[in-house]
Amino acid sequence: MNLQDALASGRIAKDAKRATKKQFEAAMAKIGATLDEDCSLGALVIDAPAGFVFGANGCHALVCTSEEDGMSIKPYAYADAIERMAYGVRLCTDTDCEVC
Ligand SMILES: [Zn+2]
Repeated sequence: MNLQDALASGRIAKDAKRATKKQFEAAMAKIGATLDEDCSLGALVIDAPAGFVFGANGCHALVCTSEEDGMSIKPYAYADAIERMAYGVRLCTDTDCEVC
């Protein structure tokens, strides 16, 4: 499905936010996050700095897509990621954490 079809079918809201890769990379740099994986479907897997979790979900990684079923169109996935990274990171306090 391309962007035109996705918009036409309502899978992506017409007023959904978009962002550029540059904006996305700046938002990652701000909190020290790194891109772990850039999936072919367009989903972004982002890692928090070592010892930290994302404020948005309390997890060490964020998986951002432009919509819920994983079919993803980059500018929307970037906007989603920026929005969620805006909650920042906090120290992981899970004493049983499997990641750190
Ligand atoms: Zn942890």
